[in-house]
Amino acid sequence: MANPKLKSVGKPSQNSNVITRRKPAAAVKTAYSVAEREEIFRRFSVQRPEPRGELEHTNPFTLVVAVALSAQATDAGVNKATRALFKVADTPQKMLDLGEEKVRDYIKTIGLYRNKAKNVIALSQMLVDEFAGKVPETHEELVRLPGVGRKTANVVLSMAFGQATMAVDTHIFRIANRIRLAPGKTPDEVEARLMKVVPKQYLYHAHHWLILHGRYTCKARRPECECCVIADICKSPEKSSDIPAPLVELPPQVIGEAVE
Ligand code: SF4
Repeated sequence: MANPKLKSVGKPSQNSNVITRRKPAAAVKTAYSVAEREEIFRRFSVQRPEPRGELEHTNPFTLVVAVALSAQATDAGVNKATRALFKVADTPQKMLDLGEEKVRDYIKTIGLYRNKAKNVIALSQMLVDEFAGKVPETHEELVRLPGVGRKTANVVLSMAFGQATMAVDTHIFRIANRIRLAPGKTPDEVEARLMKVVPKQYLYHAHHWLILHGRYTCKARRPECECCVIADICKSPEKSSDIPAPLVELPPQVIGEAVE
């Protein structure tokens, strides 16, 4: 006897004894419709047509080092230290020639500098030994480098090699949850969800837009909703305005200007 709870979906099969069930489409967990997501990222793209990361670097190697140094530090603080360091060591071999002690001296204004200096030397050694001094272009290889985690690898793949990735930092994690764009308990969960909910044509720049939006507008302690271009679409319970700020291209921000 047929299970009365089982509903058939779509056209009945030719064999009337077979009940066809269509799998429900995988739910995309976000509070926003496709049209709303398109509009959010369209506005971000008008505000910042060419968003760029704020970590200074001269090649893929110096980018890996800068991103690895930026954990629990501000981009402005890292830039201050690396400007001098990269002048004397912009390749893995030059970094090895400089040695751990001198690297430590250059970066001692950055938090956790002892451990970070160790990692910079260790990752330089691995690049020389296993990758002929070149930064690898795959996620699997990048995360093998000492001090390089998932987030660092994503930033490098995006900024150095032009791949669409979602490097979830503290700003992106906060915004994804606060406005319920891609809520998740861990950065990995948020990353996976954002990769699904961000419209494909905006994916390449999306992580920079979100970082800059978090750094300068949707700030941690008090979001500046009156300056926000998506205030009318935003579904955050914390928002304090429904009126979107004028949609104009922004001048480049001064790094480190944002105060939390
Ligand atoms: S309206 Fe407020 S809470 Fe919503 S995204 Fe803008 S700044 Fe953040």
